[in-house]
Amino acid sequence: MSLRAIALIAIWLLAIDGHGHIKDLNAGNVTTEAFGQKLELARKLNTTAPWPESQELLEELRPHLDRATEDQYADFVYLEARNLTLAGHTDEALALLNDALEGEMSPDRRIHILRLAANIAINARRFEPAFSMLTAALALAEDQSEDVYTPALFSLASYIYTQVDELHRGFRYGQLALEEARAIDDLRMQCAAEQRLAYLHKVAGDFEPSRALYRDAIEHCLAAGDKLYVGVAEAGLADLLREHGEYESVVDLFERSIERLERTGYTSGVVEARLYWARLENAHGNWEKAEALLVPSIEQFEAEESWDYLAEAHSMLADIERGRGNLNRALDHYDQYMQAREKHLTIENAQQLAYLQVEFDMQSKDQQLALLREQARVSELEAETRRQQVRLTMIGYVIAGFLLIVLTLLLVQATRERRRFQSLSQHDGLTALSNHTRFFELAEAAYDLCQQKNVPFILILADIDHFKQVNDRNGHLAGDEVLRRVGARLRECFGKKGIIGRIGGEEFGIALPGERPEDIRDALEQFRESMTQVRTDDTPATVTMSFGIAAARATPESLTQLRERADQALYEAKHSGRDRVVYAD
Ligand code: GH3
Ligand code: MG
Ligand code: MG
Repeated sequence: MSLRAIALIAIWLLAIDGHGHIKDLNAGNVTTEAFGQKLELARKLNTTAPWPESQELLEELRPHLDRATEDQYADFVYLEARNLTLAGHTDEALALLNDALEGEMSPDRRIHILRLAANIAINARRFEPAFSMLTAALALAEDQSEDVYTPALFSLASYIYTQVDELHRGFRYGQLALEEARAIDDLRMQCAAEQRLAYLHKVAGDFEPSRALYRDAIEHCLAAGDKLYVGVAEAGLADLLREHGEYESVVDLFERSIERLERTGYTSGVVEARLYWARLENAHGNWEKAEALLVPSIEQFEAEESWDYLAEAHSMLADIERGRGNLNRALDHYDQYMQAREKHLTIENAQQLAYLQVEFDMQSKDQQLALLREQARVSELEAETRRQQVRLTMIGYVIAGFLLIVLTLLLVQATRERRRFQSLSQHDGLTALSNHTRFFELAEAAYDLCQQKNVPFILILADIDHFKQVNDRNGHLAGDEVLRRVGARLRECFGKKGIIGRIGGEEFGIALPGERPEDIRDALEQFRESMTQVRTDDTPATVTMSFGIAAARATPESLTQLRERADQALYEAKHSGRDRVVYAD
């Protein structure tokens, strides 16, 4: 199989069927456009002229690589790598392509470069890089839109998978290559794909489809003008027909094929076709013919390291010699057969291993990718949970803040209400003076303090005279107004000095801590006299008041006792004619 392999790669790499001429371009001042034109010329020469001609152009372009676009650089590297390969520098070519793959370029250029690298690698029997480049190129091709055609890549894939007995994949890629070649109307590509599929069907034992495809391939290769491909397809068809038991037509076909292949100078193809033919002659007992076909090819098989073909050739030659009775010669061929077979098996193992290695890597890559995707999903979920938590916390804070404000407002409101009720419970609504309870509480506290500190204290009880008559004459509302004015006047006169309260309907209490009767006598007289001013439009009559005053004694006495004395004095004031001040004792 290896000869056939090399044949196909060589056809692909060395599509040389004419000579181009290097146009002497001025390389002194190269614009990107000029660079592109010259590169295009090099590309044409690369497939039409011997490799040094296009390399000469590449050398002219090399100093101007800084002008090249990413894709132009990729094309430059592609051509140079091909030339290096044709010159036999496979390692350098692969290194150059690997370096280029590190850089940026468009996907179709990358597929192009990967395909060349895989091709060179498989040609040099570097199976592992060949598989990894191929799988990378195929993965990239799969990602491309439908109008990117890569028949050459699929064709290569078909070939490489067939090499490791992955016939199913080989078919699939061969079919894809054929479909794409048809879509872009590329007859040469079409013939290559048909040939490859025909070979696959032959290996799989499907005679009819194989024959039909070989015939299509020959027809299309002829139409494409590719004699080399025609020759290879004819040899393949002849071998198929041989397997099927035909003879006469097959000999003709082999003769035609070999003649064609010899004319193109494609030695690998020639020796392969001769081996196929030898199979036929050997099976028909034409030993001389078979030997004549095989012996001249042995050297070529060895040079190309085509161990499987070499092994087959030695095996046939051993059978021939044994048939002739030359046992020593037969043994010698068997020995060489065994050696070649061992080498072939070693390589086949390496191929299979490389394939399995790449498959394994792909699978583990897939698993890693799945793991990474899963991790990304988990961290996205975590992030979402965190965002949700922050959101909930914020909502919590807002609600808490809102509740706090509401509670604060309620508390403020309640406090105000409490104060209002407290105030209401301690004050008289009409005069805003302390009510009876509050007045005596405050007075008691003040009295106790004065007693402790031995400070004088006065309690005055005041009552409006004949207030019933005020009400009766002027009405209750007018009476109220009189009460309000009396309260206001009392606050004016005694508010700063002491405690004032409305302790009954028209009765008031005044507690003056730190005051002696003689200190307030004038003020009280003044107040009593100013009562004449307490009149309103509704109460034209003068309102008078009576006062009973009691001062704290040196001897201990309760406020109640003091109050009784003040009450007694008031009673006296009333009964001695009203509108006067009476001092107790
Ligand atoms: P006296 O000189 O002996 O004190 O005679 P008086 O009429 O003032 O005394 P009395 O105790 O007989 O009457 C008090 C009146 O005060 C009875 C009531 O109608 C009136 N009074 C009590 N509280 C209020 C009040 O809040 N508003 C009004 N308009 N009148 C009130
Ligand atoms: Mg009274
Ligand atoms: Mg009264």
